[in-house]
Amino acid sequence: MNDQTLVQRWRQTLDDIEEAARKAGRDPARVSLVAVSKLHPYQSIAELVQAGQLDFGENYVQEALEKQAEEGTVQRIRWHFLGRLQTNKARFLAGRFHLIHSLDRLKMARALNSKSLDYGVRQPVLIQVNLAEEEQKGGAAKDDLSRFAGEIHGLEGLKLRGLMCMPPFFDDGEQARPYFSRLRKLKEVLERDLGIDLPHLSMGMSGDYAQAIAEGATLVRIGTRIFGPRP
Ligand SMILES: *Cc1c(COP(=O)(O)O)cnc(C)c1O
Repeated sequence: MNDQTLVQRWRQTLDDIEEAARKAGRDPARVSLVAVSKLHPYQSIAELVQAGQLDFGENYVQEALEKQAEEGTVQRIRWHFLGRLQTNKARFLAGRFHLIHSLDRLKMARALNSKSLDYGVRQPVLIQVNLAEEEQKGGAAKDDLSRFAGEIHGLEGLKLRGLMCMPPFFDDGEQARPYFSRLRKLKEVLERDLGIDLPHLSMGMSGDYAQAIAEGATLVRIGTRIFGPRP
């Protein structure tokens, strides 16, 4: 993790994202960095906000709410929720996150929908897909996806914006590439089946963001490469 500062690593990451987009023949403006700050202190977030980063990803509700409270009333940050969802936390999630990436169950969708309607908001969400059908990981089964997406699309309090995936971990990011390509195709099928536009593919982390960008990622979720190892 060398001796660069946090801000230097963040700048380098932005440069590398831009280069990956150009190499793939894509417009770099269509790829956004979500800096995954889970388990890192608010101070690090504040430093990056100062430098110009506005999208941050968190995995734990309690921790995310504490950081939002530290942010105070200025509220410039676009908070992304990436973690496992629990129905009893729906009231803390609805309306407080720019985008929830990890929706994967109808029961959760209904809970989130109900709270969003209570609060008078329309909560943007992505469906997380468990492409490799790994038991320990969240995500909707891909065989079920059309039906699930259709149900979410029908909920007034939610706004379906796209798909997210977390492929199995590989030392070589190139091996994750077929999963990214599969997610892109699933998104295209859903857009056609549901007749809607899904602008986002949230895919790619520290070790495989370049491959994800090559396959069409619009949001890359990068933690370790920017913040260093999690404590
Ligand atoms: C922690 C996490 C990341 C960031 O992973 P890094 O390997 O640290 O870049 C991205 N997405 C999700 C869903 C995560 O939980």
